[in-house]
Amino acid sequence: MSRRYRGQFAADGACLSPARCIPTLPIVTEPPPDTVESTLREWLRNERRLGVPHWDVSTTPAAAVVTGVGNREGARPAPPSPVVERLPTAAAVRATTLPASTPALFGDDTGLPPPCRAELSKADAAAALAHLDATHVRGCTKCRLHAGRTQTVFGVGHPRPALVFVGEGPGADEDAQGIPFVGRAGQLLTRMIAAMSLTRDQVYICNVVKCRPPGNRTPADDEMETCAPFLFRQLAILRPQVIISLGRPATQTLLATKVAISKLRGAFHDFPPPALAHVGLPPARLMPTFHPAYLLRNPAAKGDAWADLQQVMRLLGLPAPQRS
Ligand code: SF4
Repeated sequence: MSRRYRGQFAADGACLSPARCIPTLPIVTEPPPDTVESTLREWLRNERRLGVPHWDVSTTPAAAVVTGVGNREGARPAPPSPVVERLPTAAAVRATTLPASTPALFGDDTGLPPPCRAELSKADAAAALAHLDATHVRGCTKCRLHAGRTQTVFGVGHPRPALVFVGEGPGADEDAQGIPFVGRAGQLLTRMIAAMSLTRDQVYICNVVKCRPPGNRTPADDEMETCAPFLFRQLAILRPQVIISLGRPATQTLLATKVAISKLRGAFHDFPPPALAHVGLPPARLMPTFHPAYLLRNPAAKGDAWADLQQVMRLLGLPAPQRS
């Protein structure tokens, strides 16, 4: 019996697409928005005082990306993104996965299917994410946070991105709109993404917990542990090359550690960490950095955050900013 895969899943929610795996990820070629120059200026405001290099978008390689809009009008197509060339192959990813009998991180009482073990096309990954959201997250009442939410906030962005941002949880604006990082901190994150010559549509943005903690408090450890299996299953579908964890709760959850973010940020870490090896997640490089909300309260830390983003840009082969 042949198996066709168009967003179909087994009764337990497992993927039915191993024969439709693709060896590479879709190329991200959409240019940054026209507002990139203004957003760069805003994000890099005070950069000289902080020692952050100034990015002159009129002369740097990033400008070539911006002017790539002209490709739609018949100009020479942009070259393939170096991001794709650096992505792990399907064979390399599969070699790291574990037997189907491997238990889920926090036990099988989550009622979730095992993390996706195959590389999916953009369409299939979008379908798998939508299935996970609709079937398991939207009606979830596994922790106390469900009581105060307006709606769950699953995630948004490219279903097969090279880069994923993970925060700790939705705030009031996110709870109202059902979209992560849309408040003041989200606007700063959007500018940070633009400063990397990317757009929100080219990356994926989500949180550890999918429901707003009351009063925008930090999620409790047990709340993050209860909700983390959803995040891990998202990451198994997304299969990014790099994860940027925003702030202490997200960083400590993804690295399964209690080490302070001040000691973790500024360097890449292997993901998953040994403590999460049994989950069967695809490998990625994880860069911890400060949460945009912290940067709003402590703008002097923008220099450190920018240095973290620059390391990610170098790994992904994104255009490096130039000193003016
Ligand atoms: Fe479920 Fe996560 Fe919401 Fe808790 S925060 S109710 S685990 S979706």
